Amino acid sequence: METFDYVIVGAGSAGCVLANRLTADGITSVCLLEAGPPDWLPWIHIPAGFIKTFYHPGVNWMYSMEPSEWTGGRRIHAPRGKTLGGSSSINGHIYNRGQPLDFDTWAQMGNRGWGYADVLPYFKRLEARQGESDATYRGRDGSLTVSDIDWTHPLCEAFIQGAVEAGIPRNPDYNGGKQEGVAYAQRTIQNGRRVSTARAFLHPIRNRRNLSVVTEAHATSLIMEGKRVRGVRYAKGGRGGPAIEVRASRELILCGGTYNSPQLMQLSGIGSPELLARHGIEVRHALRGVGENLKDHYAPRFVARVKNIETINERVRGLKLASEVAKWVFQRKGILSLSPTLVYAFWRSNPDIANSDIQLTFTPASYREGVQGELELQPGMTVASWQQRPDSKGYVHIRSSDPFEAPIIQPNYLTEEGDRRVLLAAMRLARRLLASKPLEPYYDHEDFPGPKVQSDDELLGAAKERGTTTFHPNGTCRMGPETDPMAVVDDQLRVHGLQGLRVVDASVMPTMLSANLNAATMMIADKASDLILGKTAPEPIVVAT
Ligand SMILES: Cc1cc2nc3c(=O)[nH]c(=O)nc-3n(C[C@H](O)[C@H](O)[C@H](O)COP(=O)(O)OP(=O)(O)OC[C@H]3O[C@@H](n4cnc5c(N)ncnc54)[C@H](O)[C@@H]3O)c2cc1C
Repeated sequence: METFDYVIVGAGSAGCVLANRLTADGITSVCLLEAGPPDWLPWIHIPAGFIKTFYHPGVNWMYSMEPSEWTGGRRIHAPRGKTLGGSSSINGHIYNRGQPLDFDTWAQMGNRGWGYADVLPYFKRLEARQGESDATYRGRDGSLTVSDIDWTHPLCEAFIQGAVEAGIPRNPDYNGGKQEGVAYAQRTIQNGRRVSTARAFLHPIRNRRNLSVVTEAHATSLIMEGKRVRGVRYAKGGRGGPAIEVRASRELILCGGTYNSPQLMQLSGIGSPELLARHGIEVRHALRGVGENLKDHYAPRFVARVKNIETINERVRGLKLASEVAKWVFQRKGILSLSPTLVYAFWRSNPDIANSDIQLTFTPASYREGVQGELELQPGMTVASWQQRPDSKGYVHIRSSDPFEAPIIQPNYLTEEGDRRVLLAAMRLARRLLASKPLEPYYDHEDFPGPKVQSDDELLGAAKERGTTTFHPNGTCRMGPETDPMAVVDDQLRVHGLQGLRVVDASVMPTMLSANLNAATMMIADKASDLILGKTAPEPIVVAT
């Protein structure tokens, strides 16, 4: 049986950053286990390939959420990356850190060292920002390219102008001093290619002799001696593959993501005793918060038919597609180099509140019946809208004691009345912006939900009918002090009550961020590497907010 200083389970957004940092001295030995294959699938690397990996079982766990009242009894597709880079290899490339308030809330909940001033140096350390930016907030010397969109479209310009006329100011950098406003999205795309965490942090260091990367290694249970975690068992090649054990002399670190990290803990007897008993699993360590507190963003989309101009929909077929492919192959430009979302707006559901609480996205394209994966034939444009910091919470529970069976994922979207209220404000704003004066020359009519849908109940009905996840689940191993009965890890990301086990991924977020989660997940991993190695944290950057 092999032994390493550290064993990391999951080579996703967090796992790749962590493997990079922990092996930087050339001495500390790390084994990085990844259930999926290497990231060789070409669609991963072409930004518009997002639409192909969305339902690709070769690189995607292809989870499905449980039906619920506010999703109209639908099962919503829940993609998660299953390859080197994890979800950063199949995500929408958007770079969005969140608001200072988000991290200050984490600190106020008793998590020392997680306030905005503490985490800002890590965001900066990770990134290689291209383009104009304020050096107080943005980094240039990291490994993660963050670029601006180099493709414009009159519909995007008109949408932005419409937002400005509605009182939402243009914001030159929503990852800078202030998030609020409207702007083109910033992306983790370099020279027309996706920058996953595998590309930025793992591939450049694959020749380090103290790093061992094992793909198609599905971790099935933790090896424990009393309350000390010693290592992990995995099945090489997945179900039916040989069972292999690997030991960690210092720590085992779970980076399996919001669905899989709690699943692996529950399978190993760490979690709620009632849940474990239901599946005949011996309780090794009772910890009620494991798998609970699941938060996610829920977004309905408004679609309008477009006239007098071509949208992306018409460019993805026949000769036009051939010309776009040529553009990408020879120049790394054109629609294949685009992320699925082009413009972002952050605004308030109510003029009396201090911080924006709704997020909107605009794209000059539309999906067939709201199903991501296939663009419509006729010209269309879409505005998605969601509440940034919802209170509704759900759970991730094992379905059985079989480690290869998908967990039960129930986000319980919109169960809190306050969340429905904010979502309604977001939907009304989305509709208003779609029908703005600058978009008038191109706006034919609202296709979904359509002009008949007006009352709160009707709008919520539309949200039920077509709302989807925006792929930001978190919180199932939430960070918090011992006094928080539902906390799973402490502010050093060590699992409460156990030795030799940390969780480092999006599952530890104590509250939902006003953001897409990739940037913060990488930040968590970078900060975790200092905590694990006992390094001094960088000097906090205190800015007026
Ligand atoms: C379709 C989609 C679009 C998104 N768009 C954006 C976006 O535009 N911008 C943004 O900021 N965020 C986006 N996100 C969210 C963001 O990518 C994730 O929040 C982030 O990648 C989560 O990182 P993680 O490290 O927690 O988990 P992941 O990156 O999912 O990594 C977990 C890794 O662990 C592996 N693993 C899991 N279980 C096991 C096991 N038992 N054994 C071995 N390995 C295991 C997985 O295969 C995976 O590689 C999107 C996500 C998706 C799925």
